[in-house]
Amino acid sequence: MRLALLARNANLYSHKRIVAAARARGHEIDVIDTLRCYMNIASHRPEVRYRGRALDGIDAVIPRIGASVTFYGLAVLRQFEMMGVYPLNESVAIGRSRDKLRCLQLLSRKGIGLPVTAFAHATSQADDLIDMVGGTPLVIKLLEGTQGIGVVLAETRSSAKSMIEAFGGVEANILVQEFIKEAGGSDIRAIVIGGKVIAAMQRTGGPGEFRSNLHRGGKAKEVKITPEERSTAVRAAKILGLNVCGVDMLRSNHGPVVMEVNSTPGLEGIESATGMDVAGKIVEFLEKNAKPGKTATRGEG
Ligand code: ADP
Ligand code: MG
Repeated sequence: MRLALLARNANLYSHKRIVAAARARGHEIDVIDTLRCYMNIASHRPEVRYRGRALDGIDAVIPRIGASVTFYGLAVLRQFEMMGVYPLNESVAIGRSRDKLRCLQLLSRKGIGLPVTAFAHATSQADDLIDMVGGTPLVIKLLEGTQGIGVVLAETRSSAKSMIEAFGGVEANILVQEFIKEAGGSDIRAIVIGGKVIAAMQRTGGPGEFRSNLHRGGKAKEVKITPEERSTAVRAAKILGLNVCGVDMLRSNHGPVVMEVNSTPGLEGIESATGMDVAGKIVEFLEKNAKPGKTATRGEG
C-alpha cells in the first residue's frame, strides 16, 4: 500500500513508530505536513497538492491532526475523502471527538455511563449549575482543552462559583462535571482498533494531582480491564465512528464512566506500559480495511 501520514511533526514518537511499522510490513509511507497541503476545492476532480504537485496514488491516509490545527486539518482530510482515499479515522468522526460536549451528548444518547455533566454559556446561574452536578467538589473543563490543560478542580462552592464566573468573563465554553473522587487520581485508557480493545493502561497523576495525563507527569501501567469497561470502550468508539481511538474512563462507584475519546491517541505511553505493538496493529487494520472509495461519509456532514 501507499500510505500518507498527515502530521505536522515527523519526529514525534507516535509518528516515527507508525512510519517504521508501515515500512516493516512492506508499505510505502510519506509524512505529509498538514498545514502545507493546499487544494482547489471547486474542481470537479478533487485533489490535494503538496510542494507543487498533486498527491495521488495514495491508498490510505493516517490523520494525526493536532488539536491546534483541527479546523484546517479536517478540511485537508475531507478533501482526501472526496478523492476516495481511505482515512484511518474519518473527518466527521474526528470532529465529533474533538468537541467534548458533542462527544458526551452522542455517548449519553446511547446510554454510555458518563460523569454527571452540565454545560452553559451564560454564567449567571452558577449556583444552579453547581447543584445540577451534585455540588462540590466538581471539575470544570474548557470545551476544547487537551493534555490536562484547561481542567480544574473546584473544592468549595465559592471557588467553583468564581471559576465559573471567570471562564464566563472570557467567553470560554465550559463543562461543569461531577468529580469522581473514588477514581483516586487514576484513569483507564483503552485503545480500540477496529472494534476491539487491543491494549489498556491505568494512568495515575503525580502526588497531589487529580489529573492523570502523562503530559502532566502522570505514570502509566498495564491494567486488566473488566468486561464492562471493555464493552463501554468498544461501544464508545462505535458511536463516534472511530476506527482507532483511546477511550478514557474513570472507575466510579457506579461502573465505568467515559470522560473523553481521543481520536489521535499517543503511542509512547501505551506501547511502553503494555509492550503492545500498537503502531503495527494500526497498519494491520489498514491492510484489512483500506479500499478505494470505502469512506462512508466522503466528506459529507
Ligand atoms: P484533557 O482532554 O485535557 O485530557 P480530560 O477530560 O481527559 O481532559 O481530563 C484530564 C484528567 O483529569 C483526566 O485524565 C482525569 O485524570 C482527570 N479528570 C477529568 N475529569 C474528571 C472527573 N470528572 N473526576 C475525576 N477526575 C477527572
Ligand atoms: Mg484526557
